[in-house]
Amino acid sequence: MKAKILFIEDDKIDQKAFKRLVENQQLPYEYVMVESVENAKKHLKTDNFDIVLMDYMLTDGTAFDIFDSLVETPFVMLTGSGDEEVAVKAMKSGALDYLIKDPERNYLKVLPVVIENALKHHKDEKMFQMLSHAVMDIKDSIYFTDIEDTIIYVNDAFCRTYGYREEEIVGKNASILWNKDTENEYRLSIFPKALRGGLKGEFLHRKQDGSMFPVLLSRALIKDERKNDIALAGIVRDITERKMIEQQFQSLAHYDSLTSLPNRAHMIERLSQSLVQARWNNYTLALLFIDLDNFKKINDTLGHEAGDNMLKEVALRLIECVRDSDTVARVGGDEFMIILPRITRAQDAAIIAQRIIDSLISPFNLDRQECSIGASIGISQFPVDGDDYETLVKNADIAMYKAKDIGKNNYQFYNPAMNIAAFEHLVLENKLRKAVEKNEFLLHYQPQIDLKTNKIVGVEALIRWKDPDSEELIYPGQFIPLAEETGLIMSIGEWLLQTACKQNKAWQDAGYSPMNMAINMSGRQFKQQKIVKMISDELGKTGLNPKYLELELNESILLQTEVTSRILEGFADLGIKLSIDDFGTGYSSLSYLKKLPIDKLKIDQSFIRGISKNASDREIIKAIITMSHSLNIKVIAEGVEYESQLKFLRELGCDMAQGYLFCYPVPAEKLSESLSKEQPAIFVPQAN
Ligand code: C2E
Ligand code: MG
Ligand code: MG
Repeated sequence: MKAKILFIEDDKIDQKAFKRLVENQQLPYEYVMVESVENAKKHLKTDNFDIVLMDYMLTDGTAFDIFDSLVETPFVMLTGSGDEEVAVKAMKSGALDYLIKDPERNYLKVLPVVIENALKHHKDEKMFQMLSHAVMDIKDSIYFTDIEDTIIYVNDAFCRTYGYREEEIVGKNASILWNKDTENEYRLSIFPKALRGGLKGEFLHRKQDGSMFPVLLSRALIKDERKNDIALAGIVRDITERKMIEQQFQSLAHYDSLTSLPNRAHMIERLSQSLVQARWNNYTLALLFIDLDNFKKINDTLGHEAGDNMLKEVALRLIECVRDSDTVARVGGDEFMIILPRITRAQDAAIIAQRIIDSLISPFNLDRQECSIGASIGISQFPVDGDDYETLVKNADIAMYKAKDIGKNNYQFYNPAMNIAAFEHLVLENKLRKAVEKNEFLLHYQPQIDLKTNKIVGVEALIRWKDPDSEELIYPGQFIPLAEETGLIMSIGEWLLQTACKQNKAWQDAGYSPMNMAINMSGRQFKQQKIVKMISDELGKTGLNPKYLELELNESILLQTEVTSRILEGFADLGIKLSIDDFGTGYSSLSYLKKLPIDKLKIDQSFIRGISKNASDREIIKAIITMSHSLNIKVIAEGVEYESQLKFLRELGCDMAQGYLFCYPVPAEKLSESLSKEQPAIFVPQAN
């Protein structure tokens, strides 16, 4: 493209010389030549020029008279020699360059270069203006930093978005745009990356008020002509809105729009995660598949809106049936799934299933009509019914169909044995609760005999539960584990302690020789916060001297922490005796026997049973007795049934014995008959 030039010159020779120059050198100029100020103004008014070349002295004035009409057209001043002052003035007024016209007209030689430079300069300037307008007006925030990352420029959008005034932010390090948590990462890894050649990515930026917002940040390295790094540009797009839309999409993809519950895909995701946890921690996980019974009928008779309302209400009720850590999902029209990521026993799943059925029975108020709905629930469990989510879902589904087949509105485990166990467990648990409320327990006492004196030196209290329906005695093996599991052992334990202490005191008050009352303590009771105080209060109430109370502890209790030893010291300080029950079956360790204030070991009955047949049992008994005596701990043998066993124990120097050979556990009244007031006697084995 040709440059359009206005050449203002009144000297004919100069005019001609210019013409010749353009023609000879075939310069790409299209020019208009005028001699006067007046003509120049006329042309400038009607025409656009890329550049104006003007002589200073004109026929009707000077070049300065034209300045006002130039507007933004760039110009180069031509002056006669000796007019340097004029040239300086012209430059101050905005001339891009000036040329001194020499008499030999050598200036024409450089004129094309001057014009070219002026045009380029003008173009750059225009471009710069355009760019800086763009940068100023653009919606994105733009900032420049030097290569130390000190901010040297920010645009208006930056100030608006970040909430800084220009003077507040210019001069600060750009790490101010990151928060405390990410600042280090920015300095150590993100900024160096930008320095190595630019960067583009999504980050969180910090505003002046401390709030964070998501941005798409590009940083570009700016180099000078010699390829030296001189600055970094930063272009920031606020993507808050985009992120919000993304989130909405996410939620559409993961949640059911009607009930806001996780949908099937999301449920599978959570199930997979929970399985990883369960596998790692050895947890049992349960999956409930819930299908509403006859939901179609609701839809058909009351309409879809009523159906939708019911589903929403069902979702709320399901949530109320579980804990926050459980997941309730809607996986189909009227199908829901619940993940119980951690259950302690299979019955927990049964309890929740029953709770769901019960909660759906209470009527729903739909369209001013009351109606209720049943649910068929299938339960599968990890790890017994499957190791991966597909199998668990499939098996919960199969179990759900079983529930439908059986007659709807019930739950079924995938594993049939669980159905029976769960039912029995539930029945037993309810019965046990009632037994605690109604106090259906009683204690039997079994004497402990000193093998040197043959006297009764103590009794062990053993609990029994009298079933009011059958009048039969239920033995502790059948209900103590459940009582421990449910925590009912706490109230049972308290009652037992009270009863046993009272009984022992009563015997003493009636004039019998004092003896030990041994009671069994379960691990769970031991975890009670104020167990020492509770027992000491009870002793205070009954007036029994603590030295006549003996606590039988399980070996596993002793393996525990410092707390255990503090509690044991507490008992010992009160004067209460401590014995270790079923010794030899657990984690027998000498070290705790040395450290803890133990008075007595009870050799487990399994070793006593083995005396006649099993040499290793005999060896173990011998070792236990020798070891205990060296530690000043007494030994009692439990489960002694035969004379031969007693003889063996006596020979080894065992201190005491307890077992059917002497007496079965019997009610207090029965024991009283046989106790001697002067001297407790040996019991004759009773025919039972
Ligand atoms: P344990 O403390 O080892 O009690 C001894 C068990 O052996 C008692 O069974 C007793 O009746 C039985 N036994 C006594 N002599 C003989 C014998 O010569 N031969 C045989 N084969 N067995 C004999 P029981 O009463 O059924 O108690 C079972 C377990 O239940 C007890 O074992 C104890 O661990 C627990 N238990 C009993 N009462 C309580 C209690 O009040 N609280 C707690 N936490 N546990 C209790
Ligand atoms: Mg015992
Ligand atoms: Mg025992």
